[in-house]
Amino acid sequence: MNEGRSTGGTDDCLRCGGALSAMGIEQFRTGGTSGGWKLLFGEMAELGEEMISFAVFACRDCGRVELRVPRAIGS
Ligand SMILES: [Zn+2]
Repeated sequence: MNEGRSTGGTDDCLRCGGALSAMGIEQFRTGGTSGGWKLLFGEMAELGEEMISFAVFACRDCGRVELRVPRAIGS
């Protein structure tokens, strides 16, 4: 029962404030045809790559799943 707000916490669930568990990196096809990717990611979707990687996090408390752009990973 820890209700302290941790500003600057990295992986708190936006819905219930629980801890998010990293599920790993998943790759999704951009395909180059779905305009939604461009709306969301702009130039990232313009890089010409067919696959885009997201870090997947899941909340154990409420089941919310979050996708994040992995930054500074592997390079
Ligand atoms: Zn949650």
